Amino acid sequence: MGDDSWDLITCYCQKPFAGRPMIECSCCATWIHLSCAKIKKTNVPDIFFCQKCKEGARKPPPQPPRGSAEA
Ligand SMILES: [Zn+2]
Ligand SMILES: [Zn+2]
Repeated sequence: MGDDSWDLITCYCQKPFAGRPMIECSCCATWIHLSCAKIKKTNVPDIFFCQKCKEGARKPPPQPPRGSAEA
């Protein structure tokens, strides 16, 4: 009763928590299924970065140019 997190979708696979083992991204605090992160339950790292943050670290999101003649 009252387990709201059961159906909560935080993982990028768009599937709910559903009681499966998950890991929290150390960067954006998103919960990802261990299976989606390709992590073994027996080998959970202390620090984990989700796919988004891993990609973001490699290539930062493009910054829109400011102060251009767009006004
Ligand atoms: Zn998932
Ligand atoms: Zn993240």
